[in-house]
Amino acid sequence: MLRKGDRTAWLKGGRATCIAPGPFPKRPWYLVLLGPPGVGKGTQADKLVETYGACHLSTGEIFRAACRNPCEAADSPVMRAALDAMARGELVSDEIVIEIIRERIRCLHCMHGFLLDGFPRTVEQARVLDQLLEQVGPRLDAVILLDAPEEVIIQRLSGRRVCRRCKASWHVQYKPTRVDGICDNCGGELFLRDDDRPESVKVRLDAYRNTIGPVIDHYRDSGVLHVVDASGSPEQVFANIRAVLEAEGRPWEKTLDEAAARQAPPA
Ligand code: AMP
Repeated sequence: MLRKGDRTAWLKGGRATCIAPGPFPKRPWYLVLLGPPGVGKGTQADKLVETYGACHLSTGEIFRAACRNPCEAADSPVMRAALDAMARGELVSDEIVIEIIRERIRCLHCMHGFLLDGFPRTVEQARVLDQLLEQVGPRLDAVILLDAPEEVIIQRLSGRRVCRRCKASWHVQYKPTRVDGICDNCGGELFLRDDDRPESVKVRLDAYRNTIGPVIDHYRDSGVLHVVDASGSPEQVFANIRAVLEAEGRPWEKTLDEAAARQAPPA
């Protein structure tokens, strides 16, 4: 059974559509995941997708996908400027990011729901997201802010290694591979992302600190913000997130397993 939908429409934009969308939840979740780089948003996003079925929409992934396929997407001056900013650890301009999101507006009213990760990062982006959601329908169920002390974040980022082939994420200390430098899943070579190098990490953390305050205020004022302690193990952090979502008290099916059971053909 397919556990995750593919994200072709999100990664490619334009007219691209997802070809293997996975089981439909009866009532999709619309979530935003906030937090500093390295706090574990990607790890928690995988768990949320697995459990609740929402499509993982990461803006950082759009740019990384463009880096991997330079002839397709990174050809435009706009995308080139975005990738240059990313390599320096800086934020891509609101103008470019918003244009990229507008191009993918279909993903914001997808029947699978969404888990936005890495967007919005500025209050301007948050306002545009509100407008787009008003235009296409869904209301945000929750904005989850993952919070951890800076020393925990730096330790997590500097030890992170990514597989060149399958893009799986590992950690030299917390999630080591069996053979140093080689991916357990596919045997691919592991590397340190350019923006995880110490000089870029500092720029990224500064960029986060300089812009996130008003975004947090924006969602606190809207009543959808939940601050979750992310300093523990991935399992502990996920339990904290589940507690928040389940306290939302939704009467309909809550997880992808329930959706898959409903959609499974009778035995
Ligand atoms: P992430 O994977 O979310 O850490 O994003 C990687 C990089 O992509 C960031 O350091 C930024 O350069 C760029 N980026 C991703 N999302 C945004 C955004 N919403 N606004 C500005 N820059 C972004």
